[in-house]
Amino acid sequence: MADKRDYYEVLGIAKGASEDEIKKAYRKLAKKYHPDVNKAPDAEEKFKEINEAYEVLSDPQKRATYDQFGFAGMDGGAGFNGFSAGGFDDLGDIFSSFFGGDMGFGGRSTRANTGPMRGDDLLKRLEIDFMEACFGTTKTIRLNVDETCTACGGTGAASPSDIETCSTCRGRGSILTQQRSILGVVQSQRVCPDCGGTGKHIRKVCPKCAGKGYETKAQTVEVKIPQGINSGQRLRVAGKGGRGANGGPNGDLYLEILVRPHEKFIRDGKNIMLEIPVTAVDATLGTTLDVPTINGEVSMKIPAGTQEGTQLRLKGEGVPDPRGGKPGDQLCTVRIKIDKKLTSKEKQLYEQLRELEGKPGKENIWDRFMKSFGM
Ligand SMILES: [Zn+2]
Ligand SMILES: [Zn+2]
Repeated sequence: MADKRDYYEVLGIAKGASEDEIKKAYRKLAKKYHPDVNKAPDAEEKFKEINEAYEVLSDPQKRATYDQFGFAGMDGGAGFNGFSAGGFDDLGDIFSSFFGGDMGFGGRSTRANTGPMRGDDLLKRLEIDFMEACFGTTKTIRLNVDETCTACGGTGAASPSDIETCSTCRGRGSILTQQRSILGVVQSQRVCPDCGGTGKHIRKVCPKCAGKGYETKAQTVEVKIPQGINSGQRLRVAGKGGRGANGGPNGDLYLEILVRPHEKFIRDGKNIMLEIPVTAVDATLGTTLDVPTINGEVSMKIPAGTQEGTQLRLKGEGVPDPRGGKPGDQLCTVRIKIDKKLTSKEKQLYEQLRELEGKPGKENIWDRFMKSFGM
């Protein structure tokens, strides 16, 4: 309030006045202007003014704030409701002033931004198939995107002359309030209740967006999924995030990739892990097998004497590199599988094999095991 008189001036004292001088000046003036005593038309107004000045200047903290910031430091000129309530009416108030937003006296630097502001970035999850992740693909996704209204440019007003500055916060969008608490005076910044933080009032709203300043549009967006992408990685879709404020641009949309697992192939970074069954005979004698990979079947040599759990590498048969570098490998873990059902011929051959192994002078695997126990 521009016409508000300086508190020191109201009490008729100097800026450096002592507590005593303040008290004396107040008593003298309060007596003079008390409405019960003084019947002049402006007496009540004067009495209020004196009380307000005294309330601030008699409290060292309030006085310090006033000395530093003037009326702006107190409350944006909207009166002293925060003060004269004499404390907190509810716990919510206490917490909001202690933890919400700004505390202390440097509050004006963090005032509400009433200019164009970029929207928030949004995060969405996008599930893709295992093979799509390996080789890349293009996905069409449907989105509802808030776009700045083309008719009003985001202001929400029918025309620029329909926008007026909020008188309560003088366009700042926020007001400062002070409240007495157990920790002393807490100054907090609040969104202006009159304009909701915009700092403006709209006389006539934009007919196209009904004053919202934006329009929600259903859109389909083509998203290119690069080869070699993996779960947890994020793709950015520019400008499809949360809407901006006051005509500011939208934030971005981030798509967090979730790769659906494959039934057989297991991905380990760029490498593919696969368990392959190998018969006892093939593991013993060695063979060549056509092994499935993400690129199709690839012939792989199983060396003679391959043991259970052996890992064999198929170089370059893993996942393509997203940046065009070397692809990963496929690591095949050998699982020796024993047939439970044998033909009589097979059974006969295995029996012969055992006879050979049991021949005197030939040490078999079991003999070596027993020997290790000293038996
Ligand atoms: Zn509009
Ligand atoms: Zn306002």
